[in-house]
Amino acid sequence: MMSKNKLKVAPPSTETYIACPYDSAHRLLPTRLAWHLTRCARNHPGSKMVHCPFNNTHIYSVTDIQTHIGVCPNRAHLERYIHPDKLPPAEPRAMEFNIESTEDWDAEPPVESYNPQAYCESNFVIRNPQGAPPSARREFRERERRRFQEHSKF
Ligand SMILES: [Zn+2]
Ligand SMILES: [Zn+2]
Repeated sequence: MMSKNKLKVAPPSTETYIACPYDSAHRLLPTRLAWHLTRCARNHPGSKMVHCPFNNTHIYSVTDIQTHIGVCPNRAHLERYIHPDKLPPAEPRAMEFNIESTEDWDAEPPVESYNPQAYCESNFVIRNPQGAPPSARREFRERERRRFQEHSKF
């Protein structure tokens, strides 16, 4: 009957006790594990336990660590762990995203070198007969462009 009562007051799963990797007799709350491991490691100097590279609270034997690395939930930080200097911090940098919006300025520089053909053509456009249907005006522009290209050969 006592065990039944105990079940009723069992702590939530987030407070499940974890066995100390150095001594399975040590049962710890996850929140206390990191603190305990730093103390317990001193009592087991000859232990072949190694820290998981992704999470200091993951401690396994030398033979088990390889298996754990393959399934460690913190493995997403692998790249950051291997290249801590080459990758940006975990937080996204909003400033760098804003810089991308200026890309269009480079696509067409406003100070492009002087183009005489484009300059003359724009003048021809101004001379277009006002009120003419768009097709006629387009034809006029084409005729003027050809006339200019003929003229520019000399
Ligand atoms: Zn311990
Ligand atoms: Zn791990």
